[in-house]
Amino acid sequence: MANVRELLDIMGKINKKDEELILKAYDFALRGHLNQKRMNGDPYFFHVFETAKILAKLGMDTETIAAGLLHDILEDTEIKEEVVEKEFGGNILFLVKGVTKLGTLKYRGHERHVESLRKFFVAMTNDLRVVIIKFADRLHNLQTLQFVREDKRRRIAMESIEVYAPLANRLGMGKLKSEIEDAAFPYVYPKEHAQIEEIIKEKKRSYQENLAQVQKELEKELKKNKVKVVEIDSRMKHKYSLWKKLTKRDMDIEKIYDIVALRVVVESIEDCYRVLGIIHSVWKPLPGRIKDYIAVPKPNGYRSIHTTIFTGFGGIAEIQIRTKEMHAEAAYGITAHFAYKESEGKKAKDDQSKFKWIEELQDLHRTQEEPKKFIEHLKTDFFNDRIFIFTPKGDVIDLPDGSCPIDFAYSIHSDIGYHTAGAKINGKMSQIFSKLKNGDIVEIIKKKDSHPSSKWLEYVKTTIAKKHIKSYLEKNSLLSKLKSFGRS
Ligand code: MN
Repeated sequence: MANVRELLDIMGKINKKDEELILKAYDFALRGHLNQKRMNGDPYFFHVFETAKILAKLGMDTETIAAGLLHDILEDTEIKEEVVEKEFGGNILFLVKGVTKLGTLKYRGHERHVESLRKFFVAMTNDLRVVIIKFADRLHNLQTLQFVREDKRRRIAMESIEVYAPLANRLGMGKLKSEIEDAAFPYVYPKEHAQIEEIIKEKKRSYQENLAQVQKELEKELKKNKVKVVEIDSRMKHKYSLWKKLTKRDMDIEKIYDIVALRVVVESIEDCYRVLGIIHSVWKPLPGRIKDYIAVPKPNGYRSIHTTIFTGFGGIAEIQIRTKEMHAEAAYGITAHFAYKESEGKKAKDDQSKFKWIEELQDLHRTQEEPKKFIEHLKTDFFNDRIFIFTPKGDVIDLPDGSCPIDFAYSIHSDIGYHTAGAKINGKMSQIFSKLKNGDIVEIIKKKDSHPSSKWLEYVKTTIAKKHIKSYLEKNSLLSKLKSFGRS
């Protein structure tokens, strides 16, 4: 168990230097955690080893995987920072320290929730990889949660659903998000979880049979039309998201059409639309259920075409159509761009405006030859001109560096922007022109009779605020002209 070969096999083809780094980190962690045990009696080392494996499966770079092996070494052993730096260098020390810092925070109620999100985003601006290691660490902890004390168990599970999963989702990491949610689900909502298990047990068979029929017929049609298919398979909606959806549909399973869905992966975007056409020529689509997330991606970057059809056997089925790239991105999101194995000859992709960070990452990725350099860039440039500001409820607004509370207000809602009268920054009354700092919590104070002035334009940074203020000022000056005209 926990043989280093297992880890290297997941990583696939790597160079000698990378292999040496992994071997060294493996030995170092193994020795460091020697004699330490987990709650379930396993050697502690198993935990860091499994964490590193999750990172390898996500396709992370060697430094991150090594840091995964070492992520608990500062907190749980006597080993000092200097030793880690001497043995593994500044980069890896930085990652391990970042993970350690993130770990000191415990979730207790809402305040903590906001605070932990804030810490996450600040860590992200330093190096996104810290957050991804923390995700892997958390996922493994969730998978071994049954051995933890009950109150602690609930707290960890709850924090995972409320903080980790939404963040993973924001980064487009759909697979990890689902894994975190499903691992935490039974501890946070045991009754509901049991209910969902029951429903799935009962329905799975008939759904899959229904879908298998459609799949067979679709494969035949695609072949006839000479569409090259990379793969077709079906996926079951994961448990937590099925439950969430049920609560929105009066707990009526018949109102959910995508419990199982067929996934068609093809070579190109043109083929995606061809497949859609072929499907609609064979089966009647359900009105209002055709969603083109290729032309209009979801805010987290997700792309695919979805359609729901009447199967002709009295059933309904959802079909999702996407390219290989979209398929990888839907599962791995931002991490799809860390891959240490470069996919050769990546074609320039379409310029759909997707999630801002991912789009910028991809631009960076395209222009960078070496993955190492890409990561360097990510650490320094990528987040430098962006700050994350929080509402008192913990929602995150990302703004360009140098933004002020007015920018923040307009980013939430134009009406809030228009009536901004004051701002509390981290609980203190402040100027509405104050420069915001990464991680600030901002509360806007509105007044009905306060309105934009031309002075605002000197301070705001976002286009959205500028646009709204200008249009207000123009309207207003036109109005006063009209008024003075009326008076004369
Ligand atoms: Mn850990």
